[in-house]
Amino acid sequence: MSDLNLILIGPPGAGKGTQADRLRQNFGIPFISTGDMLRANVKQGTELGKKAKAYMDSGGLVPDDLIVAMAAQRLEQDDARDGFILDGFPRTTAQAEALDAQLRKLGRTITAALLIDVPDQEVVKRISGRRVCVANGHLYHVDFEPPKQDGICDEDGSELIQRDDDKPEVVQQRLGVYHEKTAPLIAYYDKQGLMRHIDGTGSPDRVHDHLRAAIATALREDDV
Ligand code: AMP
Repeated sequence: MSDLNLILIGPPGAGKGTQADRLRQNFGIPFISTGDMLRANVKQGTELGKKAKAYMDSGGLVPDDLIVAMAAQRLEQDDARDGFILDGFPRTTAQAEALDAQLRKLGRTITAALLIDVPDQEVVKRISGRRVCVANGHLYHVDFEPPKQDGICDEDGSELIQRDDDKPEVVQQRLGVYHEKTAPLIAYYDKQGLMRHIDGTGSPDRVHDHLRAAIATALREDDV
């Protein structure tokens, strides 16, 4: 099988993390989230983390050069050789161009860009209930995917918290940034014939089924 290089696009709260985790299990390829990588850097107090923190806290984007270098390094690692699922990267046209250039050098191409589409109103409702475990970033929702025990991660028993940037005023800012900076990627990948639109308002199972179907179609088209 050829490598499977997938990009997930969508507003904050579209369910990209949840879906990426499922696809990772289906296909055995790593799920790479630049947001998770940045949060790990902030937690560890690295130089990159220190530079990124203020942008993240305000709901803005971390500068392209920092993100592109971080993502490029990650994509060169061995476990990404047969493919990857990118969540939260690229987020600007400049990042998409940098990714294309890197893949070209490696003789690889993107298999599909998958848009998980969710209206703004729904985003706000979803994010306000989102909780994340402090140890490993496992995701929950107080209404839609509650943990077995309130405030405790099912997987590792650690505490569940609300991310600072999931607070309502920051969410509005992140949505604005998404429409201004990231939504143009839809046209970018459309032009390359790679864009697949998925209705993200259904249940996680339904969205997952649609993603699987879109990936199967993309793979078939890749073969011909
Ligand atoms: P996420 O978890 O993907 O929503 O990312 C959380 C925050 O990390 C974003 O609001 C940005 O501040 C930053 N971030 C993550 N990925 C990127 C990216 N590709 N480009 C710029 N900033 C990013």
